[in-house]
Amino acid sequence: MFSCWLPGLNRGLATPTGRIAQLVGRSLSRSLQLSSRRSVPELSSFVARTNTCGELRSSHLGQEVTLCGWIQYRRQNIFLVLRDFQGLVQVLIPRDESAASVKKILCDAPMESVVQVSGTVVSRPPGQENPKMPTGDIEIKVKTAELLNPCKKLPFEIKDFMKKTEALRLQYRYLDLRSFQMQYNLRLRSQMVMKMREYLCNLHGFVDVETPTLFKRTPGGAKEFVIPSREPGKFYSLPQSPQQFKQLLMVGGLDRYFQVARCYRDEGSRPDRQPEFTQIDIEMSFVDQPGIRSLIEGLLQYSWPSDKGPVGVPFPSMTFAEALASYGTDKPDTRFGMKIVDISDVFRNTEVGFLQDALSKPQGTVKAIRIPEGAKYLKRKDIESIRKFAADHFDQEVLPVFLKANRNWNSPVAKLVMEEQGLGLIRRMENQEEDVVLLTAGEHKRACSLLGKLRLECADLLEARGVLLRDPALFSFLWVVDFPLFLPKEEKPGELESAHHPFTAPHPSDTHLLHTEPEKVRSQHYDLVLNGSEVGGGSIRIHDAQLQRYILETLLKEDVKLLSHLLQALDYGAPPHGGIALGLDRLICLVTGAPSIRDVIAFPKSFRGQDLMSDAPDFIPPEDLKPYHIQVSWPTDAETEKNSLNPPHHPES
Ligand code: ASP
Repeated sequence: MFSCWLPGLNRGLATPTGRIAQLVGRSLSRSLQLSSRRSVPELSSFVARTNTCGELRSSHLGQEVTLCGWIQYRRQNIFLVLRDFQGLVQVLIPRDESAASVKKILCDAPMESVVQVSGTVVSRPPGQENPKMPTGDIEIKVKTAELLNPCKKLPFEIKDFMKKTEALRLQYRYLDLRSFQMQYNLRLRSQMVMKMREYLCNLHGFVDVETPTLFKRTPGGAKEFVIPSREPGKFYSLPQSPQQFKQLLMVGGLDRYFQVARCYRDEGSRPDRQPEFTQIDIEMSFVDQPGIRSLIEGLLQYSWPSDKGPVGVPFPSMTFAEALASYGTDKPDTRFGMKIVDISDVFRNTEVGFLQDALSKPQGTVKAIRIPEGAKYLKRKDIESIRKFAADHFDQEVLPVFLKANRNWNSPVAKLVMEEQGLGLIRRMENQEEDVVLLTAGEHKRACSLLGKLRLECADLLEARGVLLRDPALFSFLWVVDFPLFLPKEEKPGELESAHHPFTAPHPSDTHLLHTEPEKVRSQHYDLVLNGSEVGGGSIRIHDAQLQRYILETLLKEDVKLLSHLLQALDYGAPPHGGIALGLDRLICLVTGAPSIRDVIAFPKSFRGQDLMSDAPDFIPPEDLKPYHIQVSWPTDAETEKNSLNPPHHPES
């Protein structure tokens, strides 16, 4: 409770300031001077306080101060603890008769009331110092106090807020924001963004350009939100990202663009996604992949909070094919091993039915992961749920194999595997006695994807039982490169869709395949992964209108009319260009170690896309819809019932 609120965020705040009257008079010229002289922010300029609660130390002894804050705690009408964004300070409630009115104000005010107190900074009596509190050597001997605004009875206690349900926190978000954790997260976010601006604009000449949020439909990609217009039947769309605009800015000669950009995607309920989110959006002319990578490595290094340890550059990189083969995903968590191993050759002559079956097919493989000390930590019911997951979601068999035959839980198949191919398996998987091997067989991508999921699942299980696999203080960045340009469409596997977006340039050495085997073309797309989460993605773009038209029209079967402005622009001397966008919410979430991206956004939407504080989205009366030529077609009772029978799972219910 008494820990410093913002360690490292607002360093060097010990410079005491003068009294309030002098301060207000001097504040403007002073802060102008300060801004040019020092990088430490002036936290009490322009306002009714002389100091923040959290900044006071023994070096302030004897000073007359004015503080403003919330009453966090009061003990026996002897003292109270006052809180502001910077921390906590103990305030002595005066006992003498002459100060009865001050005492009354401070003793009567309910918790979380906001008060202003003036008094002297004094030492705490010997033995009463609180070493856990950064201001624990001093206290304030109050002379005057004013109740600025009383607080009604709260729906919860601020310090316990994180323990409440998320729905309650979102409903009273303005109170949740008073909590230490939310203050820390939002302030760290602000500081990182400021450093990013500094790096991009001041050190590298980027131009911060705002692009429209009322835009038109873009083909492909995520589902967009629509906004009615007064023209009958015409709608704006909210952009899923400023992709087209940033490319058009390159055609316009802006050369280096960046924006802290708000993006919108109507993707329904997905954990850790928000319908509106923020990207650090970047585009550059005359750049190649290594150029973008170095820029981002420098940007993260520069903006990284100093108390989170140094960021080592360059970041390692891995091809998409390698990521899939070794980690079963395009966003590998490289903080720990347990990689997927292809052991097809060990089982070439196997007698085991399902392995034989798989290997007899042209794309058949046998793959495995080794769970270190799995025999010690995994329970029989864990293995059962792993096998059920594989059957339900991947239609795959998983065979757990223990080195000690007696641990194979009466599985004749596992015993047969150990008898027949035991040595080969042990050698290939580098098995130790307490390890478990999870083995599956089937087509490469399917087997890898399944084992990739099981790898993470087992890591969670081991960690829940006290094994430290992923150091929480470690930030493991990785570039994933050489993605395919196209993927088969999920719903229509005969058709292609862009793996990134349709403006991504093909890999120069694969361009010839575009007309013959487009599914084999690799792209100039790169993703940035941090601890197993995708935190950024971008590409070198197509700047040749003809190639762009061919990809959109012929390969992706998109309506090119929707993009005629872009195609036209490419024809007017568009420079070669490329860019990237970093997902700011996810990045900050990983840096702060917050449990959800909602914890790093001031006013997030709930899992169902609602603002639980204001109750948005809300109904609009029919007469307000008239100018937009819109009528609501209300769902029937049967439809409503069907939807309520399948409520999406969400954490706040
Ligand atoms: N606009 C892309 C996205 O939102 C990023 C990029 O290609 O720069 O994923």
